[in-house]
Amino acid sequence: MKRIYLDYAATTPVAPEVMAAMRPYFSRVFGNAGSLHSFGQEASAAIFCARQTIARALGCSYKEIIFTGSATEANNLALRGVLGSTKSEIRNPKDRESRPRIIVSAIEHGSVLETARDLERDGVEVVYVPVNREGIVDVGAIRAALNERTVLVSVQYANNEIGTIQPIQEISKIVKDFRDQIRNYPLFHVDAVQAFQYMPCRVDELGCDFLTLSAHKIYGPKGVGLLYISRKLNVESRMEKMKQPFHLPPSTFHLSPIITGGHQEFGLRAGTENTPYIAGFAKAVGIVEKMRKRELSRIKKLRDYFWGKLQQIFPQVQLNGSPTCPSARRLPNILNVYFPGRPTGDFLIALDVAGVAASPGSACQAHVAEESYVVRALGYSSERASQSVRFTLGRSTTKIDLDRVLRIVKNIFYGK
Ligand code: PLP
Repeated sequence: MKRIYLDYAATTPVAPEVMAAMRPYFSRVFGNAGSLHSFGQEASAAIFCARQTIARALGCSYKEIIFTGSATEANNLALRGVLGSTKSEIRNPKDRESRPRIIVSAIEHGSVLETARDLERDGVEVVYVPVNREGIVDVGAIRAALNERTVLVSVQYANNEIGTIQPIQEISKIVKDFRDQIRNYPLFHVDAVQAFQYMPCRVDELGCDFLTLSAHKIYGPKGVGLLYISRKLNVESRMEKMKQPFHLPPSTFHLSPIITGGHQEFGLRAGTENTPYIAGFAKAVGIVEKMRKRELSRIKKLRDYFWGKLQQIFPQVQLNGSPTCPSARRLPNILNVYFPGRPTGDFLIALDVAGVAASPGSACQAHVAEESYVVRALGYSSERASQSVRFTLGRSTTKIDLDRVLRIVKNIFYGK
């Protein structure tokens, strides 16, 4: 039985071209990029090329790319790093009114939400901004939450469970209009992990100061991510204007490292660089850039076909998140569907037994099909949040596959 994978938002297979790009760096070109000799220089050159390829795709300088071990780490670096660098500037744990504030949306990935909660335990004030029924963040609530203590706003580009796309440019404008010219805060972080496959992520157009990507969501290897860090905010000019002693982070970035040790990644992420994975990441980015438009329209058609048929088979189904109509703000590959009366876990097991891999939402929750906090955040009942399934399409998905999945769903509901 050929299995059908409809969980591309959880992870993707490594593309053959990506495998080929990584292979030399496991054995033949194995040097430590930090070594001075020719072996090290070869590795260092490969990382430099990868940085440049990715920088071109993001429309930034290669010096603004920091490779990490995952997007989770990159998100941690953005949140904890900004808070770390502002410590001596505005932080005084004894005074509640001088607590730094960060603003995040209520449907961020766990790597942002759990980090925010952890920072909250450390005395940081966190504002969780709600979303509407379609999963679009309340921009007015972001504006209202900004104050002079706000150091960071973090909003994802597209949601991993429901695919809703956020109005990043609008949020960026609000943040920048508020930004204090002296302190250069608040900063704006965008988690673009799910968006990059289908949406161009040029940082100048998005207007963000930080942006997170992950290789394994775009047919690259697991275990490598990156954080774009804008160099536009100039620490020196900030210091000059403040005319007071300032705790300088070890680099000229407005962010401190969370992993210390060596001086890799411009002093912001210690640890020997993973040359093969970084080379693979860049190859994956290059491929996405080439096929994005074509794949977007192909996947959109397949998604609309699948959704239309699903509604015919089971008229009670409802979509979680924004509608699939052309003007909708949603990624083309994610369909999060409410199947009334069908507990997520039971349904997923029945699908799996029949050879179809789908998911309850985020992969991190997959071993326990808990109710989805994202579906709950849309204002739906706990029942709906525990009777919803996420189907995500990808490069290998065909209409033939989807027809088979539809037959399987029909059998699960109505028997043979
Ligand atoms: N952010 C989003 C939106 C995600 O979907 C994921 C993974 O599911 C992550 C961050 C974390 O990525 P990684 O697996 O590279 O840590």
